[in-house]
Amino acid sequence: MSAHATGGDTGGETLVNGAAARLGGFRAGAFPRHSPAALAPSSARTPAAPSQVKIGIRDVGKVFRTRGSDRPFTAVTGVDLDVREGEFLTLVGPSGCGKSTLLDLIAGLTAPTDGEILIDGRAVDGPGLDRGIVFQQYALLPWRTALANIEFGLEAKAVPRRERRERARHYLDLVGLAGFEHRYPHELSGGMRQRVAIARSLAFDPDVLLMDEPFAALDAQTRESLQEELLRVWEKTHKTVVFITHGIDEAVYLGQRVAVMTSRPGRIKEIVDVRFDSREGDLRADPVFGEYRHHVWSLLRNEVAAGREQERTVD
Ligand code: ADP
Ligand code: MG
Repeated sequence: MSAHATGGDTGGETLVNGAAARLGGFRAGAFPRHSPAALAPSSARTPAAPSQVKIGIRDVGKVFRTRGSDRPFTAVTGVDLDVREGEFLTLVGPSGCGKSTLLDLIAGLTAPTDGEILIDGRAVDGPGLDRGIVFQQYALLPWRTALANIEFGLEAKAVPRRERRERARHYLDLVGLAGFEHRYPHELSGGMRQRVAIARSLAFDPDVLLMDEPFAALDAQTRESLQEELLRVWEKTHKTVVFITHGIDEAVYLGQRVAVMTSRPGRIKEIVDVRFDSREGDLRADPVFGEYRHHVWSLLRNEVAAGREQERTVD
């Protein structure tokens, strides 16, 4: 089991306290004001200039030593990837190829066994307040309202009460939950709970948002509406987003670039630039969407088959 799973569905102030520390940084000052050039795609295939690189992943490998086996287990190997400042990058790959492992490494929850990960040119050596994480199922504190859940991390950062409130309300608003601030988690739908989790990460105002299949457990309609909302929030805040998914449609719909991984040991197979002339209307029905979708599907097809085979055979 990978380290990220410990942030899963068990509650508890201690656990969440630890998780809150990993959630991302709160910078004093105003909310980000600039907005991105809408959903303008990343500029073609030219490598990013050094100043544009937010996250540099350099020849990264992760080998696990598992109990009861002398054989080392290679989860990812030779991963090279630059994530640009303000970019929305989706990472897609077959189940078990090392997506969560890679995200944990970027988050600093675990350390690479090879290579290095740089944020703003500095090597990651642990979790940091500059990175916010949203997991598939994020534990909200059941005894706290939506608003108080968002405030929780800000309390740990000793943000004054008034500012805490204001900030929490602002982000609840941003994720479309104005009016639900006094609901407890059990009074919210799964989609709403994920929105609270997203608002909680955003409230820290981290530079980077790391999302590990955050919508995977939701029904299709809720997922689509949250995808739209996430894009809207991203347009407003222009965080650098790394969004993991095993859904091809989701990857193409959200990503300015889609990084496709191989089966385990995962490495980057190809990076696909996604560019739409317009995002008006039913984008998923657009033939261009279909072309991207098909391209990513073709890249993944053999990898998924190989991944399944691996899961059947323990090495
Ligand atoms: P993905 O998120 O792409 O489904 P993971 O990154 O969770 O895949 O896992 C990749 C592989 O590494 C899997 O085979 C998984 O069992 C293994 N793995 C993940 N974390 C650990 C760990 N802490 N110890 C041993 N093996 C692990
Ligand atoms: Mg995973």
